[in-house]
Amino acid sequence: MPVAGSPLGERKPALLFSSLEVMTAITQAKIYGGGCHCGAIRFQVAIEHDQALDCNCSICQKKGFLHLIVPSAQFTLLSGEDFLSTYTFNTHRAQHYFCRVCGIHPFYRPRSHPDAIDINLRCLDGNVLGDFQIQFFDGANWEDNIEKIRAIDGKRE
Ligand SMILES: [Zn+2]
Repeated sequence: MPVAGSPLGERKPALLFSSLEVMTAITQAKIYGGGCHCGAIRFQVAIEHDQALDCNCSICQKKGFLHLIVPSAQFTLLSGEDFLSTYTFNTHRAQHYFCRVCGIHPFYRPRSHPDAIDINLRCLDGNVLGDFQIQFFDGANWEDNIEKIRAIDGKRE
């Protein structure tokens, strides 16, 4: 049974976490665990779609981030709140969280979907890349292409 960590809300009010049990009971979503490299940051996420994105923007290209966008309610931070640091640039709307110990970026708050959490597929436990359809996203030309992924809200019709 997932144990929700202390919500980030007190210091970072944009982040809200809620019970994954309720979500999975309603949607039949699959639960994945994940975290950073050193283990300080651990999370669980309920995923009910298989649409992932490989983005070529300036930061994703360097990070190798593979995006899985889910509603915030489907994400629970289990541990590591105190180890999260935040990097922002350009418009400073995206909140790029990373572990201040090992430097890994397990998830972040995307500019394209400010009410969602964007999970790094590479930070899920086990060899699960094959569970997902990875599509290319031309984030290097963000303004021209963002509407193509606005519809992704983590819920498949
Ligand atoms: Zn770490």
